[in-house]
Amino acid sequence: MHEPKVADKNTPYWWEAAPVMPLPPQPLARKVDVAIIGAGYAGLSAGLALAREGRSVAAFDAMNPGEGASSRNGGITSGNIRLDYATITRRFGEEKAMAIEAEGKVAREFLYDFIKSEKLDCDFQLVGLFKGAIGYEQYEKMARGAEALARKLGIESYAVPYAKQRNYAGTDFYRGGMVRMDIGGLHPAKFHAELLRVALASGLAVHSNTPVTSIERDGSGFRVATSAGTVQARQVLVCTNGYTDGASPFLRRRLVPVRSRIIATEELAPEVMARLMPKLMMMGEGRELGFYYRPSPDGRRILLGGRDSSRAGDPAAPTLRLRSGLVELFPELENVRLSHSWFGNVAMHRDMLPRIFEKNGVVYATGFCGSGVVWAPWIGTRAAHKLMGHGEQARTAFDFRPPAAIPLYHGNPWFMPAVIKGYALQDRIAWWRASR
Ligand SMILES: Cc1cc2nc3c(=O)[nH]c(=O)nc-3n(C[C@H](O)[C@H](O)[C@H](O)COP(=O)(O)OP(=O)(O)OC[C@H]3O[C@@H](n4cnc5c(N)ncnc54)[C@H](O)[C@@H]3O)c2cc1C
Repeated sequence: MHEPKVADKNTPYWWEAAPVMPLPPQPLARKVDVAIIGAGYAGLSAGLALAREGRSVAAFDAMNPGEGASSRNGGITSGNIRLDYATITRRFGEEKAMAIEAEGKVAREFLYDFIKSEKLDCDFQLVGLFKGAIGYEQYEKMARGAEALARKLGIESYAVPYAKQRNYAGTDFYRGGMVRMDIGGLHPAKFHAELLRVALASGLAVHSNTPVTSIERDGSGFRVATSAGTVQARQVLVCTNGYTDGASPFLRRRLVPVRSRIIATEELAPEVMARLMPKLMMMGEGRELGFYYRPSPDGRRILLGGRDSSRAGDPAAPTLRLRSGLVELFPELENVRLSHSWFGNVAMHRDMLPRIFEKNGVVYATGFCGSGVVWAPWIGTRAAHKLMGHGEQARTAFDFRPPAAIPLYHGNPWFMPAVIKGYALQDRIAWWRASR
């Protein structure tokens, strides 16, 4: 059946200004110090750190560099951890919970310093993030959370009561919310292109459209087989996240690729933008399956993202769901045209914490659970220092055992519809409690 077209284009809005492209083919080195699989934010950040320390490094990507999540995301520098503090403490102990909370601040600052010191042209603006509350109970919790952020980490954060909500978001949908000023937005595809530029300049060899097909032990190093030939590598780093395939069977049993989708509106009149997004902040909400949204860097469109439960093709239903979410928030956009709608894969796993780990000598930097704009450059760089044996610079709370394998899972996430239904039910219960 022919699906109605709900957006003008089904490619990322970001690719208009920064299209992903193949790199000129180059000869394959027979031997390298480090082979990196995946040239998104994580792989390139690691490659940059290694190459700057004089290591010979080849990074391989099965697609054009950046064509995975790193040029498709919302560009919100959230550094979000999906588990709350109490759950991390219960599962991993108080010390780990505190270290993770503190590291979020350091990782964000690392990204902002990196953009500034390398002069990366990626439209980064530290505008703050408003998070809307579903009900007054959630608002109270957020207000306490904002207070704790300011007290414990010195982050500028504050509660926004319902009466002042329209100063931040032109909607009555929430019952107030909170603001934190340590989060901003960047142009994800420009950021990737700029990272690629500095990584190539540092001497990193990046092979685009060159899938790695297997990684095998070979004496004290590895034989890395690619579509362009075989490379001997002393060390191997896997950075394939939501695009992990059969080349890393160990990782594939642990990471679940889940689609996330973003829609972009046509250009809106300046007075509409001023009404709907008065401070041009990044926006989130307290629902499990909630939306994240933001203005485009030029402040003329709204980009709204959320779950996409489709698993094949590019059906219209997920775009229509996001569109109705947008209209529920902003009823005046009922007749808005969508210029773009696209999806990409995020990598979820049982622990819900980004991770560096080592298995049979191979190092992995991965598992960003939909928040890799901050975490992937940070974790990728820590992983590079781990490979170089730099104790202090490699230190991170995220370097511990691999995420647990998922029983009966080898790459086909058959259980995802049930997981999504569970989250949707939690949202309905929260909504019902809020409206009593
Ligand atoms: C729609 C969407 C919105 C998002 N919004 C945000 C946001 O606002 N803020 C935020 O913090 N995060 C967001 N994220 C998440 C963020 O984009 C990712 O966490 C981050 O880009 C992960 O970077 P990465 O380098 O680990 O992986 P990727 O950029 O996905 O790169 C992995 C690469 O591995 C390659 N690969 C896989 N297998 C092989 C193989 N066998 N051989 C060679 N190459 C291989 C793939 O081709 C791919 O290019 C979003 C993600 C999506 C999809």
